[in-house]
Amino acid sequence: MQDDAGRAQPPPPLQVVLIGPPGAGKSTLVPALVETFSLDRIATGDLLRAEIEAGTPLGHTSAGYVERGELVPDAVIEQLLRSGLAAMRPDTGLLLDGYPRSLDQARTLDGLLADLGRPIDVVLALEVPDDEILHRLGGRRLCSGAGEPWVLHLDDAAAVARCRAQGGTLEQREDDRPEVIGRRLAVYRRQTEPLLAAYRAAGLLREIDATGSTADVRARAIAAVRRR
Ligand code: AMP
Repeated sequence: MQDDAGRAQPPPPLQVVLIGPPGAGKSTLVPALVETFSLDRIATGDLLRAEIEAGTPLGHTSAGYVERGELVPDAVIEQLLRSGLAAMRPDTGLLLDGYPRSLDQARTLDGLLADLGRPIDVVLALEVPDDEILHRLGGRRLCSGAGEPWVLHLDDAAAVARCRAQGGTLEQREDDRPEVIGRRLAVYRRQTEPLLAAYRAAGLLREIDATGSTADVRARAIAAVRRR
């Protein structure tokens, strides 16, 4: 894009919603999207875990829902979302990760973004079959205790060895326990998946196959957002 004097202008900030079942690889994809499209990320799951860790009143209210794999009440999440949006830089785009998760949340989001003059440009949906999700989440561990925690899969022997060599320990997210994974997946299929039809009807949806190598998924994601 060029201004009146023919100078190159940076592209306008992009508002991207990332949707996918638990374990679809949203967090793995985020750095590439953030960097490629200059986005500020708001991840409601991360914000909730930080509140729970810090023992705030909001964290206390939310902890049981997160542990059970259920959706935290809308009013609580909206509070987090509003403070995330208020902290956004004006010339940077938005990457919403983990919100909205229901049609009601999508309506709330539309209202908040309209007030900011930042309507959604593209909804990127990640597709992964249930059996692969169960495998991914069942083996997902956090290497903790040696610097910034990082995520690995138990199948990745080299990563497990690297964690141990760093003096880290392997920890499982409370909500990655087998009985909770099933519930999170059911919540996704029942409450979040209906959003896809709504965003498809609005012409915003781009669905990609999120199986295969990280590099392949990343390339598909970037191409899908560019194609909007
Ligand atoms: P995530 O890290 O996105 O998988 O989120 C972890 C958990 O946080 C979910 O299973 C929910 O309990 C809760 N959570 C995250 N985002 C939302 C949301 N938009 N609405 C309700 N609950 C949420």
